[in-house]
Amino acid sequence: MAKPVVDHDECIGDGLCEQICPEVFELREDGLAYVVNEKPNEDLKGRIDEAIEECPTGAISWEE
Ligand code: SF4
Repeated sequence: MAKPVVDHDECIGDGLCEQICPEVFELREDGLAYVVNEKPNEDLKGRIDEAIEECPTGAISWEE
């Protein structure tokens, strides 16, 4: 399965992805979001997709 990735050149650290799916995204003190679960279960896919859609800078994507 593909894994979600955050492009740190694009992330502005608003923490929206963590709010939507804290099982996968974590906003750290450096002001960037990190993927903390690179092998998310199928049941998280919907909320990861939601985070991808809601991210204001389009910093999150699926990587094969
Ligand atoms: S929603 Fe996008 S910009 Fe906001 S913290 Fe997550 S990756 Fe960064």
